Amino acid sequence: MLTVSWSEKGGWEAPQIKPFQNLSLHPASSALHYSIELFEGMKAYRGVDNHIRLFRPMLNMERMHRSAKRCCLPVFDKAELLECIKKLVEVDQEWVPYSQDASLYIRPTFIGTEPSLGVSRAGHALIFVIVGPVGPYFATGAFSPVSLLADPRYVRACRGGVGAYKMGGNYGPTIAVQSEAVKQGCQQVLWLYGDQEEITEVGTMNLFIYWTTENGERELLTPPLDGIILPGVTRQSLLDLAREWGEFKVTERIIGMKELILALDAGRVLEVFGAGTACVVCPVGSLLYKGQMYQIPTMKNGPDLAKRFYKELTDIQYGRKQRDWAPLV
Ligand code: PMP
Repeated sequence: MLTVSWSEKGGWEAPQIKPFQNLSLHPASSALHYSIELFEGMKAYRGVDNHIRLFRPMLNMERMHRSAKRCCLPVFDKAELLECIKKLVEVDQEWVPYSQDASLYIRPTFIGTEPSLGVSRAGHALIFVIVGPVGPYFATGAFSPVSLLADPRYVRACRGGVGAYKMGGNYGPTIAVQSEAVKQGCQQVLWLYGDQEEITEVGTMNLFIYWTTENGERELLTPPLDGIILPGVTRQSLLDLAREWGEFKVTERIIGMKELILALDAGRVLEVFGAGTACVVCPVGSLLYKGQMYQIPTMKNGPDLAKRFYKELTDIQYGRKQRDWAPLV
């Protein structure tokens, strides 16, 4: 594991790579009491050429830097932290699976370790990074669609809040809602927000809708980065690819539940899918909303676009296609 300690007095200490071990923390540590904690999620992939690659890792470093600022944790040099992470992956390279549907998950974490109960800026802090191999997200190897619970009583993040940052405090409270979804026979939560019941995210993924607009145009739609959406690396990559292809309209705007239901009823929805590092893309097959189950024809439609995105991103990640998005470790 990698650790880098910081204190107000001494600044950043030299980074260390050492055997995986427990942390020793003062029981008053601010991360434990006030959730002064943030994290990242990224992966290392072993390519067809046996070289190990990361995927747009600077986007993770930038997001982590923004989360740190919002947590009043000290800023760090993004390029240097990335170098440390690359070194860690190099040391642990045999843990990067020899497989093109598995990878090494990398979890950078940043905590306040201030040993005092005052609700104030942490004067002590720790960055640590742990890694572990992960298998394919879709166990059967084929895309399988998920069902979603959309219940407007629950909110993941609010405007003016911290939903756009990857803070631990955003995730703990979602677990009870996720279990509610499972209790109701669904697999994940579709997070709604506000009077318009804006569609925001799916579980821990960004949400995409591919449909035909009322004017008959093909459009890829995702909610805008207006403070309640986590700016996903995968989200950014799908938008970048779709805009490069230039084959259909690409729009970032607020979408209400009503608009989605109307489009479903009119048969205009082609594909709905989540996007994130864990799965790349995850097709959505149904939606439980106000006691009614709505079927979404994602699988009936291929899903052509979701599959195309999946292939394009995994081709880059596993070195089957060269692109500067996937730097070597
Ligand atoms: N939304 C949320 C709430 C998340 O936790 C994640 C996972 N980081 C994402 C979206 C997807 O982000 P990424 O593509 O960077 O994994």
